[in-house]
Amino acid sequence: MWKSSSNKLSRVVSQHGIGRRVLVVGAGIAGLAVANALREWGAELEVVERTPTPDPGGAGIFLPGNAVRGLRALGLEEPVVDTAVRIGSQRLADSHGRVLYEVDMTDLWRGIAPTVATTRANLRSVMLEAVDGVTIRWGTSPEAVVQDAAGVDVTFNDGTTGRYDLVVGADGVHSTIRRLAFADAGLQHTGLHVWRLLAPRGGMDPVWSARLGRGTSFLMVPIDPDQAYCYIDVGAADADAGLDGLAERFDRPVPELASGTVVHSGPIEQVVLPTWSTGQILLVGDAAHATTPNMAQGAAMAIEDASVLADALWANTSVSDALQDYERRRRRRVEWVQRQSINRDRTRGMTPAVRDRVLRLVGKQLFHANYKGLHAEP
Ligand SMILES: Cc1cc2nc3c(=O)[nH]c(=O)nc-3n(C[C@H](O)[C@H](O)[C@H](O)COP(=O)(O)OP(=O)(O)OC[C@H]3O[C@@H](n4cnc5c(N)ncnc54)[C@H](O)[C@@H]3O)c2cc1C
Repeated sequence: MWKSSSNKLSRVVSQHGIGRRVLVVGAGIAGLAVANALREWGAELEVVERTPTPDPGGAGIFLPGNAVRGLRALGLEEPVVDTAVRIGSQRLADSHGRVLYEVDMTDLWRGIAPTVATTRANLRSVMLEAVDGVTIRWGTSPEAVVQDAAGVDVTFNDGTTGRYDLVVGADGVHSTIRRLAFADAGLQHTGLHVWRLLAPRGGMDPVWSARLGRGTSFLMVPIDPDQAYCYIDVGAADADAGLDGLAERFDRPVPELASGTVVHSGPIEQVVLPTWSTGQILLVGDAAHATTPNMAQGAAMAIEDASVLADALWANTSVSDALQDYERRRRRRVEWVQRQSINRDRTRGMTPAVRDRVLRLVGKQLFHANYKGLHAEP
């Protein structure tokens, strides 16, 4: 899928999936990408999702070039890009709003794909439409998993059971599959707290912009003609003061802090695990490797996971060999993103005067370096 049409051809002639049953747990970005990527493998696919209907909420999402390239591999670039806002640059400013550096997205992702921002609802509906025909059982969650050498038995909250050749846990940062099948919880608190808001777009240019305050950063990106998606983070110890307390951490007012509607507030967690699979059970997306949102790579990593998993299943006759192969291909890249994200988060703790001077001098080069490793296909 990623490399060439010849690779696609080899997939067509080696549909090891025929006669196999796959359960995907979670109909978020990762689960829907997996369901889409595995459609041609030949297996019987079933998706279960805890929410009773597609979740209508969730504000916006920024999709850098490699995320859009991932959507292209799933045949979804056009419907997403056509309904999203194309983002021309990422601009970082100090607490007064003075620009520290600006990175042109065409330069950053040259030859790869455009960078866009959209509503989560839009992305979700495009992804759902693409798996039309795949069974999705809404309001359903696994309660027990037991595996032997030949398969995995799953019991669901509605009392039904099923036996599968592969179970993919795509059920997010607080994954039930991780809890039921993996010894290591893997969940780590990052010490950050975040609020997500929706604000009127006003005359905002198609630019992702962030303002660095004292121990906080405020980010804003337009997601459609009328709305901008904003988020603001702060050390968890300071979160109790609430959103109102954050305005004074900027030297010039941030009007969207007052005019925006809060759609989510919570701690930022990451997931770090020694292995993402056990037997014929695999974790993907946030369930396997949630990372802080600093690099905006959550969707990209989840979408890439799906295509690499499809490649691995096409290339191996045994599911457990495919899962080992998958992890060998994904580990370095995903861990690199997690490391870059945490390093970038550390700038929050620096003295603003020092931080601003450093970023003004070398911010743009650092930014390019942070994303360079993601130019190659996964
Ligand atoms: C503040 C913030 C901002 C972010 N901004 C961006 C951004 O701009 N760009 C970007 O790429 N990433 C961003 N991310 C990260 C991104 O949101 C995630 O990486 C991405 O949503 C992961 O997708 P997922 O499908 O793995 O998990 P999720 O989106 O969490 O989906 C998991 C799905 O599984 C379902 N589920 C959970 N438990 C069960 C169960 N027991 N049974 C059945 N179903 C279940 C859930 O209901 C959900 O539908 C951000 C994250 C945060 C915290």
